[in-house]
Amino acid sequence: MLQQVNGHSSGPNAHGGELREDLQEFLGQDAPLHLLDDLTKVNPVTLETVLRCLQARYMADTFYTNAGCTLVALNPFKPVPQLYLPELMKEYHAAPQPQKLKPHIFTVGEQTYRNVKSLIEPVNQSIVVSGESGAGKTWTSRSLMKFYAVVAASPTSWESHKIAERIEQRILNSNPVMEAFGNACTLRNNNSSRFGKFIQLQLNRAQQMTGAAVQTYLLEKTRVACQASSERNFHIFYQICKGASVEERLQWHLPEGATFSWLPNPERTLEEDCFEVTREAMLHLGIDTPTQNNIFKVLAGLLHLGNVRFADSSDEAQPCQLMDDAKCSVRTLASLLCLPEDPLLETLQIRTIRAGRQQQVFRKPCSQAECDTRRDCLAKLVYARLFDWLVSVINSSICAEPNSWTTFIGLLDVYGFESFPDNSLEQLCINYANEKLQQHFVAHYLRAQQEEYTVEGLEWSFVNYQDNQTCLDLIEGSPISICSLINEECRLNRPSSAAQLQTRIESALAGSPCLGHNKLSREPSFIVVHYAGPVRYYTAGLVEKNKDPIPPELTRLLQQSQDPLLKVLFPTEEKSQEEPSSQSRTPVLTVVSKFKASLEQLLQVLHGTTPHYIRCIKPNSQGQAQTFLLEEVLSQLEACGLVETIHISAAGFPIRVSHQNFVERYGLLRRLHPHTSPGPYSPFPDEGHSGWSPHAKEAMLQPLLQDILHTLPALTQAATPGD
Ligand code: ADP
Ligand code: MG
Repeated sequence: MLQQVNGHSSGPNAHGGELREDLQEFLGQDAPLHLLDDLTKVNPVTLETVLRCLQARYMADTFYTNAGCTLVALNPFKPVPQLYLPELMKEYHAAPQPQKLKPHIFTVGEQTYRNVKSLIEPVNQSIVVSGESGAGKTWTSRSLMKFYAVVAASPTSWESHKIAERIEQRILNSNPVMEAFGNACTLRNNNSSRFGKFIQLQLNRAQQMTGAAVQTYLLEKTRVACQASSERNFHIFYQICKGASVEERLQWHLPEGATFSWLPNPERTLEEDCFEVTREAMLHLGIDTPTQNNIFKVLAGLLHLGNVRFADSSDEAQPCQLMDDAKCSVRTLASLLCLPEDPLLETLQIRTIRAGRQQQVFRKPCSQAECDTRRDCLAKLVYARLFDWLVSVINSSICAEPNSWTTFIGLLDVYGFESFPDNSLEQLCINYANEKLQQHFVAHYLRAQQEEYTVEGLEWSFVNYQDNQTCLDLIEGSPISICSLINEECRLNRPSSAAQLQTRIESALAGSPCLGHNKLSREPSFIVVHYAGPVRYYTAGLVEKNKDPIPPELTRLLQQSQDPLLKVLFPTEEKSQEEPSSQSRTPVLTVVSKFKASLEQLLQVLHGTTPHYIRCIKPNSQGQAQTFLLEEVLSQLEACGLVETIHISAAGFPIRVSHQNFVERYGLLRRLHPHTSPGPYSPFPDEGHSGWSPHAKEAMLQPLLQDILHTLPALTQAATPGD
């Protein structure tokens, strides 16, 4: 359904949208809604008026709108190259007041950049980009990286370019590489990031980018061995199969037209399938051609591993046999991964168990399902290690020397809130992260602002904001929470059914208002009422996923490989972390505990910065330009609590300057006045002022006047009582 947008006239209408009277006057009686740059200016601020304003702007090809302290970014779903030209970046960078230009991610970028520069108190900054899958987070952070590459270019002169790669270019090169290995085509986004990313752009005292560091979160490694129907594996697999030369096809055993079960939907041609771009970028990051070929050879091996299939065995004492057509796959796999063929097959078919005081080794043939699990586990293990290794190589290539940077701007691009028909541990982790980020947002802007007003004794009508602490208590609180209960199951290692886990969660956490009533579902599950809406999580397989067990035999097998890359990924001296010893009492780290720890680390970093927020919104889920579906946008606006944010920003005091800073900046006014002497706060107490020429006074007054002129509209707006 395509909503038509009409010009907006004054006075209430069927949609209840109305401009504030003062603005109406200012803009003229028939001011179109799409001219409103800031959602705090719609009156009343309701979901509906905000929605109408965004809709009008979207249909007028205006994709960015301020919402008080947040920038709303609507996905254009069509190329808008003029919005991202380097000239435009420079314009925002050079503008005396970038916030006076049209809302843009470059305004946020520039503001952030200037905040770092502030001589009064240089402070690290962060930009948190949030939104659903496909809303434009990665696009936004990529564009911001390009912005900083232009405005904060390193001092390397262009002449030396030929010998030394410019650092900002290298940083930009990390994008195609990480996207090739970490992104995939999903139902929601053809280029969906399957990992979270925090990139720290490091700046020196002169505000030039001297390096960067990347931190990734929770790569969806299961995708390597299991893709939902109509979805695809990571881009890199398709890139190799499409882009390999004749020679490489021979080396990697990838004949034209070969079919791989882990390569579904290969017929779709996507812009992401660009092998050359990935290779070129890898080269710029210092990954030479032989190393690249080694990586692609191992990945080709994984594709052959996917074709290894086992037949059901009728005799439990005998290992499952390979399907006839899989024998060749095992041979190819063994040669590509430089592994001995027989031990490889045996590792997939037979489990070794150590038991008893003497740690005797027992061999147990695996069922067909167990063999499949071990095969998938092998692929996930190799891919996850490879991804982590790539990130570390990228980091060593782009990270600045510790003493060559002083401040940073962090860009956070993490998966948005997810709610599918079938939600499991992955969604629980993702939504948990979103709860944490929402809390950070609430704490930073909403609560801090309101509390500050109370402390300062300012009159203020409190806006009810949604505090999600109760939900976080349910997920991660102590002593008992969903996370602790799932971890407990892993620790006790007891056989427990999905239904038992549901009962345990329900009875232990019954008091939490965020645990929804679990009716209507036949499968064991529980409901969490998130700030963005209720989500049903199914308990089947949850504990196993949380354990993420890696049979120690698999690691030992890979340690035997003669392949140079696998030797690096699986060093022999490493006492495998996954290898549990019956003697050791150290608890095995579960997926949830590892995720929780990395999330806490991230939040600690964010707390040390001044955050800026960009909310990406997906106007429709079909990825169509010029289509603004009210229902879909509405649920996203609700999910991020945008209306509450606007209320507070609109009703709050828009300018907050500390007394000291105010005096430092405006004390000059007092000094310019002929009948006053410098006050105690004057920044230049020992300078006389009587000798200044009128021209000099005017020159000094100019910036102050600019400030005042800029501030006035905001102050008037603040003085107008909110609804
Ligand atoms: P997310 O990271 O939130 O899942 P992406 O950033 O990958 O979403 O965006 C999904 C797709 O939407 C992109 O591949 C691109 O085609 C389109 N897109 C997003 N933002 C823009 C933009 N500003 N201009 C043009 N196309 C965009
Ligand atoms: Mg993304």
